Amino acid sequence: MAIDQTDCIFCKIIEGELPAKVVYEDDQVIAFEDIHPKAKIHLLLVPRSHISSLEQLEVKHEALISHLLLLLPDLARRQGLQDGFRTIINTGRGGGQEVDHLHIHLLGGSQLPGF
Ligand code: C5P
Repeated sequence: MAIDQTDCIFCKIIEGELPAKVVYEDDQVIAFEDIHPKAKIHLLLVPRSHISSLEQLEVKHEALISHLLLLLPDLARRQGLQDGFRTIINTGRGGGQEVDHLHIHLLGGSQLPGF
C-alpha cells in the first residue's frame, strides 16, 4: 500500500510545516535533534526524499546513501563527539521503526553501553 506522504511527520519537518531543531541541512538531507533523546546527543539524519525504510532502497539511491554515511562522522565532530558515537537504523515494526521515513539515529555524548 502506498504511504501518503502528506501524513509523514519527517516530510512535514523537511517542508517546515512542523518545528524541529535543525543542526544541518543541504539539498539532499536534513539533520535535527530527536524530540525524545535517548542520549546526551541524539540526532536524526534524514533524506529529503520520502523513502519509507531500508526495504525501499534501490540502486538509484546509491549516491544518496553514500552521502548520508559520509556525513555521519562529520556531524558527530560538529557535535563535539570526539570519543565515538552510535548509529542506528530501525527497519519495520519488528525492528522498532515508528516513523516510516528512512532516518539514521546518531547518538553519543556519554559512555553508551555495549550492544
Ligand atoms: O527509528 P524510529 O522510527 O523508532 O525513530 C523515530 C524517532 O523520531 C524517535 O526517536 C522519535 O523520538 C523521533 N521523532 C522526532 N520528532 C517527531 C517525531 C518523532 O524526533 N516529531
